[in-house]
Amino acid sequence: MIRLEDILAKVEKHHPGDNFDLIRRAYIFSAKEHKGQVRASGEPYLTHPIEVANILAEMKMDATTVSVGLLHDVVEDTLVSIEDVEGMFGSEVAHVVDGVTKISQIQFTSKEEKQAENFRKMLLAMTDDIRVIMVKFADRLHNMRTLQHLKADRREAIARETMDIYAPLANRLGMGKVRGELEDLAFSYLDPKAYQELKEQVERKRREHEAFLAEVTKDIEDKMREHGIPCFTDSRIKRLYSIYTKLKKQRITIDRVYDMLAVRIITDNVKNCYAALGVIHNSWRPVPGRIKDFIAMPRQNMYQSLHTSVIAGGQSFEVQIRTAEMHHIAEEGIAAHWKYKGGKLVADNREDERIIWLRHLVEWQQEMKDPADFLSTLKVDLYPEEVYIFTPKGKVVTLPRDATPVDFAYSIHTEVGNTCVGAKINGRMVPLKSKLKNGDIIEIITQPGHTPSRDWLMTVKTSRARNKIRHWLNVQESEKAIELGKKMLEKEARKYKTNLRDVLESEKLTAMLPEYGASKMDDLLSMIGYGKLSAKQLVSRITPDGVKETQPEEESRIASAVKRALGFGNDAKLRVKGFDDLLVYRAKCCNPIRGEEVIGYITRGKGVAVHSKNCPNVQNLLYDAARKIEVEWASSTPSAEAYAVPITIQTEDRPGMLAEIAAVVAEVKSNILNVEARTADERGTIDITVEIPDMKHLERVIASIKKLDGVYDVTRSTRTVNSSTNR
Ligand code: MN
Repeated sequence: MIRLEDILAKVEKHHPGDNFDLIRRAYIFSAKEHKGQVRASGEPYLTHPIEVANILAEMKMDATTVSVGLLHDVVEDTLVSIEDVEGMFGSEVAHVVDGVTKISQIQFTSKEEKQAENFRKMLLAMTDDIRVIMVKFADRLHNMRTLQHLKADRREAIARETMDIYAPLANRLGMGKVRGELEDLAFSYLDPKAYQELKEQVERKRREHEAFLAEVTKDIEDKMREHGIPCFTDSRIKRLYSIYTKLKKQRITIDRVYDMLAVRIITDNVKNCYAALGVIHNSWRPVPGRIKDFIAMPRQNMYQSLHTSVIAGGQSFEVQIRTAEMHHIAEEGIAAHWKYKGGKLVADNREDERIIWLRHLVEWQQEMKDPADFLSTLKVDLYPEEVYIFTPKGKVVTLPRDATPVDFAYSIHTEVGNTCVGAKINGRMVPLKSKLKNGDIIEIITQPGHTPSRDWLMTVKTSRARNKIRHWLNVQESEKAIELGKKMLEKEARKYKTNLRDVLESEKLTAMLPEYGASKMDDLLSMIGYGKLSAKQLVSRITPDGVKETQPEEESRIASAVKRALGFGNDAKLRVKGFDDLLVYRAKCCNPIRGEEVIGYITRGKGVAVHSKNCPNVQNLLYDAARKIEVEWASSTPSAEAYAVPITIQTEDRPGMLAEIAAVVAEVKSNILNVEARTADERGTIDITVEIPDMKHLERVIASIKKLDGVYDVTRSTRTVNSSTNR
């Protein structure tokens, strides 16, 4: 087992004077908590966090990250809570441990290959501190190195996840070494036979290859010096998994892999690139067809370099030649065009740039002398507009940030959205307006026959969900309006001794459609239903010679049949100007009474709601001016009516107050229907409902209550309703 002192020495080397006490305490804590646990290999569990911490120290990470390496499994595998960690090691360590724990709880595997990219994004989206990912890489690296102790199916699953998620991620972050090792380890478990065969072939020649590269690199440096070309060099043997993919892709044998060995020459300018190429070709024989001039013809991603393969003593190797600037672009891609804003590197919205930005952070982290203060305040948010969540079957779905279960339901299927009644997030029931978080597993509960709610429009984030809900509501409303329009037209038609069918089939009516801005008959019917068009006028226009029947009993019989059929209540005391066939009712929020100014609002499917002009809801409702309609009080004998009007009275809190109010109400000849009184802070609030025939009478009641001693204020109560529920 690696000694703690070895790890401390490595941290000391790159971060002299860092918080070693933190690492020591983390070590003791981890040893205590994991005590008695063993790994599949039979070793004490503690070996794992220690190895992880050691890998992190080798990756030049700071004391905080190395401490997290020691603590990374305590929350998941022991009884320690994240609060305990925070209490002992502070919020920074706790935050990174928490991030690692959350990622560890997710299995990033799926049978669908195209899901891999989503999983990678999800993993990055769950990372708000790059140290989380560093610890995860170290953890994965050690687990891969010791994978042989697990059962075959677990081995395969972890190797697959490593190959699909972690290795490509390491690659994108520019961590070539980590990527190479992860790929080769995963390869060895995923295709052990191919791995072994290839390994034997490569190993057989490894020593020879290494010696060859050392020699040829030295030769190249000498020759460059001879010709006065300044340069530095770099060489590598191709990794097993890279060779394997190349063999598979190009269907060639290993001796045809010309870049199995490669040397890179980085010089100062373009002229020297070509000069170096000349020197190389003068010294060794080039392989025909392997010279590529990406300097004259850069690749689409702006990569520039000269490539050639040459043969030295029967052994081919690739030489890549470029300037330092081209090298910079090759290593960093489009990030070479980075801009600073106010002294800070700012990530663009483009994903590639954000990834490269993260890559820079990883590189800086490893290069900087004192990255601690830089990193501790750094928060990564790679996908600020997105959230990645799971279906119960483990498929990843990308939704906009703050999306709700309803968005998710519509993303699966319109029918799932329309019939959705509830949702579970990570197994727990939640309200449909809950905001989804990265990594949530979400399950939708549907009920056949259930229908969308207009309120959903206020919380959904995807345009898909919004459009589907709107569409559904519009269809419903226009169906109702068409139905209502038909009944109204039918009623009018009877007055003219004709019937609905004749009216609808009348050529005259068809010819009139464009005049009303309607393209088909249903449009016209819905206009009637919404109250925008009078059925009476319409029928009288198409049957000018028709005999209007005057049979009041018949008419009212039909009218009430229509009203019953549609389930509408009607208020005989109110009348819509110009229409006597529209269904009207008093709005419950303001309960308008005879004599006060009122206004009608065409609701969808319920007729016309009549509000007091002072009703606070009117302002909210009338944004849709087309649905506003004038109404008036129908003439009738006042004594026959009485309205229930709620009144709120603010008083001082004293005995007898209520009795005095009851007395004055009786004096003005009104009945009290209901009383509710409550006191707070030496003040009383009394809600009474009185029976009132008209506006004048109400004013009288209010005035006499106001005259009472100890009454501060008397108001007619209105309640504010959600505008969406009253349409
Ligand atoms: Mn672990």
